[in-house]
Amino acid sequence: MSQQGYVAAPPYSQAQQGMGGYQGGFGAAPAQPLYVHYGGPPQAQNAPPTGMMKPAASSPAGMLPPPASTQYNPNVQQNGSHPQRYASPSAASPTYGHSSHSVYNSMTSAAPPPTQQLTNQMSAMNLGGYAPSAMQSHPAPPTSSVAQQHFQAQPPAMGQPQMSPLQSPLTNFQASGPPMGGQSMAGPPMGGQSMAGPPMGGQSMAGPPMGGQSMAGPPMGGQSMAGPPMGGQSMAGPPMGGQSMAGPPMGGMGRAFPGPPPSGPGAFQQHGTGPNSPSGYPQQAGQFGGPMSGPQPGMPGGFPGAPGALAGPPQKKLDPDSIPSITQVIEDDKVRLGGQVFSTNIRGQVPPLVTTDFTVHDQGNASPRFIRCTTYSLPCTAELAKQCQVPLAFIIKPFAKLPNNETPLYVVNHGETGPIRCNRCKAYMCPYMQFIDGGRRYQCSFCNCINEVPVFYFQHLDHMGRRVDFYERPELSLGSYEFDATLDYCKNNKPPNPPAYIFMIDVSYSNIKSGLVKLICDELKTLLEKLPREDGAEASAIKVGFVTYNKVLHFYNVKSALAQPQMMVVSDTAEMFVPLLDGFLVNYQDSRAVIYNLLDQIPDMFADTSESETVFAPVIQAGVEAFKAAECSGKLFIFHSSMPTAEAPGKLKNRDDKKLVSTDKEKTLFQPQKGVYEQLSKDCVAQGCCVDLFLFPSQYLDLATMADVPSHTGGSIHKYNNFQVETDGEHFLRDLRKDLQKSLGFDAVMRVRTSTGFRATDVFGAVYMNNTTDVEMAAVDCDKAVTVEFKHDDTLSEETGALIQCALLYTTIGGQRRLRIHNLSLNCTSQLSELYKCCETDSLINFFAKSAYRAILNQPVKNVSDILVNQTAHMLACYRKNCATPSAASQLILPDSMKVFPVYMNSLMKTAPLVGSTELSTDDRAHQRLSVMGMGVEDTQLQLYPRLIPLHDVDVSSEAVPAPVRCSEERLTDSGLFLLENGQSIFLWLGQASPPDLIQSLFNAPSLAHLQQGHMFTLPELDNPLSKKVRSIIDELLEKRPNSMKLQVVRQRDKPEMLFRQFLVEDKGLHGGTSYMDFLCYVHREIRQLLT
Ligand SMILES: [Zn+2]
Repeated sequence: MSQQGYVAAPPYSQAQQGMGGYQGGFGAAPAQPLYVHYGGPPQAQNAPPTGMMKPAASSPAGMLPPPASTQYNPNVQQNGSHPQRYASPSAASPTYGHSSHSVYNSMTSAAPPPTQQLTNQMSAMNLGGYAPSAMQSHPAPPTSSVAQQHFQAQPPAMGQPQMSPLQSPLTNFQASGPPMGGQSMAGPPMGGQSMAGPPMGGQSMAGPPMGGQSMAGPPMGGQSMAGPPMGGQSMAGPPMGGQSMAGPPMGGMGRAFPGPPPSGPGAFQQHGTGPNSPSGYPQQAGQFGGPMSGPQPGMPGGFPGAPGALAGPPQKKLDPDSIPSITQVIEDDKVRLGGQVFSTNIRGQVPPLVTTDFTVHDQGNASPRFIRCTTYSLPCTAELAKQCQVPLAFIIKPFAKLPNNETPLYVVNHGETGPIRCNRCKAYMCPYMQFIDGGRRYQCSFCNCINEVPVFYFQHLDHMGRRVDFYERPELSLGSYEFDATLDYCKNNKPPNPPAYIFMIDVSYSNIKSGLVKLICDELKTLLEKLPREDGAEASAIKVGFVTYNKVLHFYNVKSALAQPQMMVVSDTAEMFVPLLDGFLVNYQDSRAVIYNLLDQIPDMFADTSESETVFAPVIQAGVEAFKAAECSGKLFIFHSSMPTAEAPGKLKNRDDKKLVSTDKEKTLFQPQKGVYEQLSKDCVAQGCCVDLFLFPSQYLDLATMADVPSHTGGSIHKYNNFQVETDGEHFLRDLRKDLQKSLGFDAVMRVRTSTGFRATDVFGAVYMNNTTDVEMAAVDCDKAVTVEFKHDDTLSEETGALIQCALLYTTIGGQRRLRIHNLSLNCTSQLSELYKCCETDSLINFFAKSAYRAILNQPVKNVSDILVNQTAHMLACYRKNCATPSAASQLILPDSMKVFPVYMNSLMKTAPLVGSTELSTDDRAHQRLSVMGMGVEDTQLQLYPRLIPLHDVDVSSEAVPAPVRCSEERLTDSGLFLLENGQSIFLWLGQASPPDLIQSLFNAPSLAHLQQGHMFTLPELDNPLSKKVRSIIDELLEKRPNSMKLQVVRQRDKPEMLFRQFLVEDKGLHGGTSYMDFLCYVHREIRQLLT
């Protein structure tokens, strides 16, 4: 069933049915799509194309004019603590989206094409660019020998200095091709050397082609943006003219992938493509023509491989710098866009990377903090989408945290009738609705239906056809805002009660013995003071309750009137019920004394326990029943240690079987056991009961099953293997504190609506899908993201673009029912080059990670990996075939926006769930799989490419964190200190020749040898600048990430170093999986196969 489709005439009442029992018709979906236009296309006269904010005549193009008034009407309230006014856009503000034509134009002529042409060995660009011209006339020698392969560099580009041929002991590459005709910019290393050049005035130009978009402002003179195929984005890459990827793909380099043998050397001889060859870049000749010898003026930094540096030793390993570098791409984006304002007034604008700090100014589209896309320019047709195989997906993080300098969401109240919505498709009032007929009617841009404007909402239009209260109403001018929901949107038409938190502590033998129970109880005494509260509220409205359990459950009455807490035991776990209503869920402030008393007593009460068996499903069931009885939603915090083997529903047995790894049955290791837990997930979601699970296992506990409920209820899963209070206590407590204080919404249902022509077809996340369109989340917190895949069901229009509206109905922590709306407009294109230009690698990899991790539930891991590689090759081959300039087949050409995609993809395939190694714990693999399912783009980016930060030469007087280096052993030095973190783990690595003074400063020990063997987990607090600096860097990272991380100090060559090395994702995987370099070569070969 299609919810977005345009329906002939669904009766209003029918549409009111809504979903999930909400009368308000939150999700009401039309029955069948009929893609005909209603009332014809929007009129150019008084209705700007959908998705565009129509600027006033006086405003600069692409900018909104200053608002008529910055005062919202009284029914608009500020949803946040800092009462910023709805900031009015100002033409003078340095918005991200504004640029100067001249800069752009000059960039156009000087800048490189949007491709990265790679040579496998292009190992140092040095090679490609500066080889002796003599090479050109010599055929490449045969390359059959792996032992001694000659690496022959290409001839230089015109005017380039020369150097001797280099030999690589590692490869049998032959770089024999000359640079492409006309492209004499042979020099620069490719790996992400953004020619970040002149401050990218062109930035905004990177967005949509302006032509034809009724930007009413001053004409965008000369901006036939659509013209040059490469917008500002693609300027980032130098033309890799001279870097033809000659030479066969790495035969004999330990490839993990099966594939055809490397082609013979003959295939790589490119002598026909000399500088004068007709196979140059005809279409770019005008722009890039003319020899450019040496560093390009206007490209700051010149070429890292300056001629002087090129004379290096003739024997040289492959230089990994020659292949695209994530750290470089990240750094370039920071330089280009860091600290700037990103205004969301331009349709289809590609935002800065997730790793860049920037400020968002909402001017009609949702902030990229809330929604990111795999591409910001959708293909117009399904055929085009199929041709390129670039997945079309949005990653939505509805409660993303906003920095303090960004305006919190406004809350709009449309009165008793509730938010104004399109009669047909139920889309909410938003900036894309087109007011017509003097303001009496509006046309929905999602389904084209013409609706009457309710009398109370009527407003006149200005001469531009825009309502005069445009700037006073967030729902007309902003990408994101909230509506107060009416009773129609509440369960049983009753306003919700505030949510509750229940703490459920496993008090079996191991948890008592480890000291965990006491640790939890002690912490809760202070932590409960910090329960999240509604902005402006004096105290938290969240109620709290306490349960302990082993084979039986103990409920506690902590009513404020009691002098002592009372315990009630339920031993019949088959028919779980809550033995008390009054006094179980209480207001913490009122019952503080009794709760303190209880928390003091719990560790002692079970101090002598010998009970080692536990139940689990009944514990969750008890929570659901408690919420049912109290008619509220909420969250269970469950602290559990072992597999539930006691006789009770949901009893589990050990089904871990490493023999299944790498077989067709491996998927069963990831599948939860059916039955009880499946039903429990349903019950939890129906009640708005989120489950956060803290696991403290000493052995296998069937995490795939135990975490099934959390992973369907928006919960988090934390795992502490072999927990010890001394080494893991602080780590766990940090997680608990973060978790408890997170801002979140409860009992949520999300619906994503789209304009006609495409629709949501699949959803990935810690969610529950009761039907195909409503995404149900018992709770959703600020770190959880849902990835939604879209497919075409008709042709999209370049003119009107594509719209999505994500509506999330939820209950606030204070018990308010709200609708949070995020709107986004995207471009549509019939040009593949435009689509690739607007791709976002970080989002793509989020989608691929989630889809692959779900796929392994149903098919062999190897199949999934094969699909990933094939799709990678296909996406890149399609670009090569359709968008790149003609060049030798031996060149690897990557779209600039995706040049580091292969690194991420290779890293993904080496992650525990996909690597298929018997050395990995089944529970760890299941844990990682489930954790990723709820991640946003930032988190998957970091997970798949950890930060490796050199600390040995850190500037202790600077605030800055040193720039990360590439995740490869190559980057480590014996005398170095490095910090590595990926959002889940954090290591301090000490080179074996670490300078004693650094060791002294950090550990108060005279040398490395004096440090304790094996693991170390803390840095002593020493009063010296280095110690303070390093600890502050670590603290900052711990603060920033959604989860806590346990610091592990490892010495080079000590055994624990293996744990660290598995995160060097550019290297060969410890448990299998290939190096980045080999992967790139493999992909290149696949691409060549596809192209022939
Ligand atoms: Zn509509």
